[in-house]
Amino acid sequence: MSKVIFVAGGVMSGIGKGVATASIGRILKSKGFKVTAIKIDPYINVDAGTMNPIEHGEVFVTEDGLECDQDVGNYERFLDENIYDSNYMTTGRVYQTVINKERNLEYKGRCVEVVPHIPEEVINRIKKAGKNKDFVLVEIGGTVGEYQNMLFLEAARMMKMRYPKDILFILVGFLPILKNIGEMKTKPTQYAVRTLNSAGLHPDILLARATTILDDVRKKKLSIFCNISSKDIISAPDIESIYEVPINFEKDNLGNRILKKLNLKPKKNDLKDWKKMVKKNKTASKEVKIAIVGKYFETGKFSLKDSYISVIEAIKHASYYYNLKPVIEWISAESYEKNPKLLKELKKYQGIIVPGGFGTRGIEGKIKVIKFCRENKIPFLGLCLGMQLSIIEFARNVCKIKEAYSTEFLKKCIPIIDILPEQKELIKKRHYGNTMRLGSYNCVINTKSKAFKCYKKQNISERHRHRYEFNNEYKNILERKGMVFSGINPEKNLAEIIEIKNHPFFIAVQFHPEFKSRPLKPHPLFKGFIQAIR
Ligand code: GLN
Repeated sequence: MSKVIFVAGGVMSGIGKGVATASIGRILKSKGFKVTAIKIDPYINVDAGTMNPIEHGEVFVTEDGLECDQDVGNYERFLDENIYDSNYMTTGRVYQTVINKERNLEYKGRCVEVVPHIPEEVINRIKKAGKNKDFVLVEIGGTVGEYQNMLFLEAARMMKMRYPKDILFILVGFLPILKNIGEMKTKPTQYAVRTLNSAGLHPDILLARATTILDDVRKKKLSIFCNISSKDIISAPDIESIYEVPINFEKDNLGNRILKKLNLKPKKNDLKDWKKMVKKNKTASKEVKIAIVGKYFETGKFSLKDSYISVIEAIKHASYYYNLKPVIEWISAESYEKNPKLLKELKKYQGIIVPGGFGTRGIEGKIKVIKFCRENKIPFLGLCLGMQLSIIEFARNVCKIKEAYSTEFLKKCIPIIDILPEQKELIKKRHYGNTMRLGSYNCVINTKSKAFKCYKKQNISERHRHRYEFNNEYKNILERKGMVFSGINPEKNLAEIIEIKNHPFFIAVQFHPEFKSRPLKPHPLFKGFIQAIR
């Protein structure tokens, strides 16, 4: 059996459990082990496809078409490996499997109960994910003490009892520093450890998240009150770049502590490329100003960036590759609808991205921004919805098809963007889940295009998440006026990449290249975009 490391969070959510898990993965990989990671989301939702991005953050998509939590994106970026559907668990998924098994008489007439059958299913899934791997990291979403993730902790407890030498438990605790007192407080984390104890578990290692480094005084205190050796209490202060986290953990010798506890020895020590990348990120000083035009970041008085996390990371990977420091600004699409005069301000950006999205809110504002980029020759990258709107803009303003639109927004329009006939049948039956193009699809690139200059190859595959497609009936009209359809899905003859002639960089794609960008392998399209800006 592979070794299993559970990572859970204490005190509160949003303290970076995902990045911590991914970083532990990177460290173990650098020591010569085969690593994979599992995300557990304690929701009833079967996948993240039905969750609102403002509430839940970005929906990440895997090669095999699973819509999941953004942390899976972090695992892929840090591990530089694909993570598949089998590595994602929600409460809904686990219950669904158990209920299906019960219906199929797989429990052979026994009484099927929450305990042990639900945790057993969790254990089955962890074991399956660990096949041919040395390590499986299992991130348990939520915070210890919540009712929601109890059954997952129960699975961890059962596993630890069965395989004591193969299981490790890591708790990520938060240590607040109160402004008026000016001291880092350990008590909430002490309580989190106690809560975990009451579930029959004890952390082997404690990651102490705080705004600053954990000093020896507090390390000792935590050690005494939490019953954890101070060598196993790892300082995890806020740092500028998430990619520095593995390096930081290694300062406290985290990798070797883990290996020692599991009776293993490092096979090598190779964080060289990673360190080089982090150093390059830190030394880039020349700024590039890039705007993302979206709508999923305003919630009350707060502005969240999580909805576009993969796009942001992809911009960073490509910018740092060229020794540039990206300055990313959020602009709300709706503001251009209310006040078109604002458009002039877009000139201060060196590049503009219109990312993916659903629904009518903000659409006209995005179309205005795209027109401005096209006419003012501002480097532009359109992603998914960004491609659909680029085509609508071109059809309306260049080809003079004024009513051009997508049937997603208006049923009675000239349907430049539409659903395929076979999807219409499914939608009638309300089978929405089956009407999305999800996961990896092939694309053949025209060798004379700008896209080819970026990819430097003809056959590629990219990840999708959308329901609507470009309507090929309008292809000739658009081509005549200068739109280039430079990437086509060969199986279904679907438009995948478009570009515009006589523009320094105007590329829009039906897929989501951001999901495949990695810090050590920036994505070719983002590289092309940044290079054009340069
Ligand atoms: N709403 C569009 C569609 O479903 C685009 C989706 C997206 O941008 N991910 O086709």
